[in-house]
Amino acid sequence: MTSETSQPQIENIRQVLVIGAGTMGRQIAMSAALAGYPTTIQDISADMLAAAHADLAQWAGVRVVKGKLDQAAADAALGRLAHTTKLETAAVTADFVIEAATERIDVKTRIFQTLGRLAPAHAVLSTNSSTLGSSKLAAATPRPENVCNMHFFNPALVMKCVEVVRHEATSQATVDTTMELARRLGKKPVLINREIPGFIANRLMRAVQREALALREAGVASIEDIDSTARTALGHPMGPFELMDMVGLDVIDFIAQVTHAETGDPADAPNPTVADLVAQKRLGRKSGAGFYDYAP
Ligand code: NAD
Repeated sequence: MTSETSQPQIENIRQVLVIGAGTMGRQIAMSAALAGYPTTIQDISADMLAAAHADLAQWAGVRVVKGKLDQAAADAALGRLAHTTKLETAAVTADFVIEAATERIDVKTRIFQTLGRLAPAHAVLSTNSSTLGSSKLAAATPRPENVCNMHFFNPALVMKCVEVVRHEATSQATVDTTMELARRLGKKPVLINREIPGFIANRLMRAVQREALALREAGVASIEDIDSTARTALGHPMGPFELMDMVGLDVIDFIAQVTHAETGDPADAPNPTVADLVAQKRLGRKSGAGFYDYAP
């Protein structure tokens, strides 16, 4: 029987396990359920599981009202979702795992230790981490070849890009299975051949932000005109300052600190203007002001 092989294969994926019911995990799980996969969402917090369930039911309801999803498909997808706080039980039947728990190496290492112990030999063990390369977690399992990053974007039910990042020991079967699962979830996966901080999308985004900040600091143009140029000349849906305000300037600053500490590359250093705004509690949209002021 094919399921006895330790090689991951798309045909062997019958049960998906998503770990973490937060912003990302719940929407990744719903994407899998909509694609027809029975999917378990596991979280240590029963409250987060309940919130995820209510949120996804509401999301599906809105799609039905808007005519973008029919009621039967919505009901079927919600019916394919199971919720649990018990990783030990869920791991045993998982053919494909997408870990989307809190971004902490100690938390993720413990999860991967459990997965390495209990998940079937053929299961892909992927992480949605934005900053931790999967090699750091692969070492916690006896099957590093089955481990990779499967990096979705927020909101995961909408965004098409999935970055599949292999580390040195990731097998071709793991890469192929992960890329194909992403396609079956309606995504456009891209393959990243080695671990690099920021992968592709966040590196491109940071490069645009860096240049936008330099133009502003040199007094070349206003933030409004830089944003307008990104929208009208480059077709970006929003300008770099609008985007930084939306993401949160504290988040932008934190990512720069983490990346710079890892790479030592001066280009990755935190930007003083962003740090100043954070010190003034101008964090972007969420605090009512950032580069722009937002009416309450
Ligand atoms: P979140 O804080 O919204 O959710 C994290 C969830 O993990 C919480 O529900 C928490 O209860 C749960 N959790 C904590 N410890 C756990 C454990 N031991 N076992 C099971 N569940 C546990 O976080 P998020 O924004 O959804 O991010 C999750 C992952 O996705 C992170 O690795 C992050 O780097 C990545 N990511 C986030 C975004 C984003 O925009 N938020 C985008 C791409 C990738």
